[in-house]
Amino acid sequence: MNGRVTLLGAGPGDPELLTLIGRRRLSEADVVLYDRLIDPSLLAFTNDQAKLIDVGKLPQHHKVKQSEINRMLVDYAQQGQKVVRLKAGDPYVFGRGGEEAQVLEKAGVNFEVIPGITSAIAGLAAVGIPITHRDFASSFHIITGHHKQDGQKQLDWENIAHQEGTLVFLMGMAQFPTICQQLVAHGKDPQTPVAIIQWATQWRQRMAIGDLTTINQIVEEQHLSSPALIVVGDVVKLSAQLNVQWPLQGVHVLVPFSKQQRLFNQLTDRGATVDFYRRAVKTPLAADLTVLDDAAALLVDSIAAYRQFVQLLVAADKDLRCLADKKILAANRVVARHLRAAGLIVDGVLPNVKLPDNFVEIGSGQAVVAGGTFLDLYQKQPQKISLPFDLAEFSAVVFPSTDSLHDFLNALSATQRGELAGLKAFVMGPTIKQAAQEAGFQKVIDCRPKVAATVQRIEEEFTVD
Ligand code: SAH
Repeated sequence: MNGRVTLLGAGPGDPELLTLIGRRRLSEADVVLYDRLIDPSLLAFTNDQAKLIDVGKLPQHHKVKQSEINRMLVDYAQQGQKVVRLKAGDPYVFGRGGEEAQVLEKAGVNFEVIPGITSAIAGLAAVGIPITHRDFASSFHIITGHHKQDGQKQLDWENIAHQEGTLVFLMGMAQFPTICQQLVAHGKDPQTPVAIIQWATQWRQRMAIGDLTTINQIVEEQHLSSPALIVVGDVVKLSAQLNVQWPLQGVHVLVPFSKQQRLFNQLTDRGATVDFYRRAVKTPLAADLTVLDDAAALLVDSIAAYRQFVQLLVAADKDLRCLADKKILAANRVVARHLRAAGLIVDGVLPNVKLPDNFVEIGSGQAVVAGGTFLDLYQKQPQKISLPFDLAEFSAVVFPSTDSLHDFLNALSATQRGELAGLKAFVMGPTIKQAAQEAGFQKVIDCRPKVAATVQRIEEEFTVD
């Protein structure tokens, strides 16, 4: 059976700038080949079985050769696999998408090309530079700055320097001084504004602005380097007016995948970049619910336990009315809130509650309180944590529950555990605070257990006056 290769545009960096079909293709893929420029957070959209191949970095730190990439694309597809070749920006804007498509066509492999938002346009918008504007530029030109290779067409500097429109150079940082010199030598006004935008649309985005004579020194002073866009033209001036600043811009937050969608939305809407870590996989367990018959109270440790409890109840042809004569207690306020949303108002929340002699506790692993009958309703399997970035590249991590903290800790490698001290932990409640401190977090910030309050606290912490 013949598989298929999707040449998929990943967009400029920010994972939310991926197309909807792109997201679907990632979730369907058997094999994903990606490289250095891809924001690795995008890989969270893949399924757990997918084989992820980093062709930008092999074990010996060698890049996989283009011929090898081509061969892998063809081989996997011929084995019947759904292959995604994830490419930065748009697959057909530099980056050899066209060459890969030619190879696939020649080999008789089914392929498709899914466009992506190119950094050459979106990267400018990210710093308030419209690529065209009626007052400043009525055309734009996207040019490779990397033109030294054999067989590649040389640039026509005379022509380029005389364009009235915006010039955008990709892959140009290695040749940067030459680009500026050539433009001036061929008649471009030396005062033409220039912007350099590094890691556009990501939390590590940086920008410098100057003109054709000054920018080189600025770039050196500020240590700007590849990957970056070089923008030459009067539209650059608009950045001073149109570069919208967000309170959490540049802040890189780690949150548990994926139920915390509101947290994700509220943080990203304020300019933060949010990445996920995977929670442990929960396997439901069977239990004997008849122990409930004589119990005076039901203590619920977690919402997952409660859900499994309801499942077992219904499977036994019973429903929540069997709890009518019992007190319902929650292990913490978050559980209490979730139960309320599910239609149960609790009679008490630990630790401020007196437990009756005969109570049943539902949870996972082990009881939170001694003395009751514990029903272990699900098993947790930690996921190996494969963070898209080093822990050191995050500004903060948010723990909405003790459970989420434990899942995180259980998944860390020994090295990662040693890196916790530098990471700010925002915890939604005092119990989690203590657990986080015990785990080695040195900066733990206690937030009210509400998404909005937590986001506000994060904003206060990162706003510099
Ligand atoms: N197909 C890609 C471009 C690939 S060429 C696209 O459409 O965007 C690689 C070059 O793209 C880099 O050298 C850099 O100049 C530019 N680039 C890609 N992503 C970028 C980003 N997030 N920030 C700045 N430059 C980027």
